[in-house]
Order: sequence, then C-alpha cells, then structure tokens
Amino acid sequence: MEDNQGNFGQRKMFQGQWTCSSCGAEITELPFEPDGERPLYCRDCHRAQRDKRS
Ligand SMILES: [Zn+2]
Repeated sequence: MEDNQGNFGQRKMFQGQWTCSSCGAEITELPFEPDGERPLYCRDCHRAQRDKRS
C-alpha cells in the first residue's frame, strides 16, 4: 500500500554525515544522493553559491 500519494510536495531527503566543503559545517541531510566526488555544501554555503554569479 502506497501512502505517499498526495504528499507530492515533499522531497526525499538523504540522511547521513558529511562536511561542508566550504565552511566545514556538519551536514546531516541532503536533497540528493551524494556521489562522493562532488563537493558538498551546507545550506548557507549552497545559497551563497547560488547567489554568486561568476
Ligand atoms: Zn558551509
């Protein structure tokens, strides 16, 4: 029985323990599955990356 119908607005989050590549903060959940090669950013740094245009 599937009970996630009607919950479409909720994204799956991946739980774990990672370190932000920018500030070193602990990251405990991500909206995507990390592949271990790309740098990971905490929410603050991720937002800063998005804001930064280069
Ligand atoms: Zn950070």
